[in-house]
Amino acid sequence: MKVVTTIQEMQSEIRQLKEKGHSIGFVPTMGFLHEGHLTLLKKARQENDTVVLSIFVNPLQFGPKEDFSTYPRDFERDCALAEGEKIDYVFFPSVKEMYPGSASVKVVVEKRTDVLCGKSRPGHFDGVATVITKLFNIIMPTRAYFGIKDAQQVAVIDGLISDFNFPIELVAVDIVREQDGLAKSSRNVNLLPEDRQQATVLYKSLQAAKEAIFHGERNPVTLVNLIKEMITSESKGEIDYVDIFSYPELKPLEELNDRIIIALAVKFTKVRLIDNLIININ
Ligand code: AMP
Repeated sequence: MKVVTTIQEMQSEIRQLKEKGHSIGFVPTMGFLHEGHLTLLKKARQENDTVVLSIFVNPLQFGPKEDFSTYPRDFERDCALAEGEKIDYVFFPSVKEMYPGSASVKVVVEKRTDVLCGKSRPGHFDGVATVITKLFNIIMPTRAYFGIKDAQQVAVIDGLISDFNFPIELVAVDIVREQDGLAKSSRNVNLLPEDRQQATVLYKSLQAAKEAIFHGERNPVTLVNLIKEMITSESKGEIDYVDIFSYPELKPLEELNDRIIIALAVKFTKVRLIDNLIININ
């Protein structure tokens, strides 16, 4: 496994791989790897000749009051885990390498960002789309792997790939959870013990909504209220949003039909957690 820190070296490696006709699987992350990331890496390993993992905590996608400085980092441990998954390259650029000066161009996302995290984190998806555009141009992958944990991000990247004509296949991977249902996240280590216990209500409330849908409930307002009541009664978390939209269009619905997403974000003491369920309504 090779660790590459400069764009120039990464591009030269990629050029050689392309000359050999290699397919390239790319897994972009912010590091502090967990089982969710490893699932993406495993899938990329199965489907491609070469696998590139990037580790970059992208300042552009954090708001001024968000957790850029406290975002967990452990490069040594990440490398050991990546090695275990037989990854070929870890691309680990510095902020200076990725953003050497003030940018003359940035990517602005026009659709699917007026709701959910796009609404509560202004500029977040522009930062994501900008860094992913740069990474796609550097790595030139055949396939790129993203987690449904960040379902709105998947919808945005889907638009980016088709609008900017990237010849890249987007592979979306299911959410990997802890035994008690909490979605795995690098940020979970920053949960206080009490918050960690209470955070299990997020998945429980999504499951309760799914159960209600199964029993015939089709009114999104009723379902959102059910989830909000469960979260407020079983935790001290502050609800950022609980919403139901069509997926991947992210349009509001008067009545559930086709493919929908139930998505939520809840703030605990030091960490804001997100989770979702995507359901096909019969
Ligand atoms: P991050 O390092 O949080 O930016 O995540 C990197 C990639 O891993 C993103 O595509 C995430 O959606 C994905 N990911 C994060 N957590 C999970 C999880 N629990 N299950 C599946 N994929 C995940």
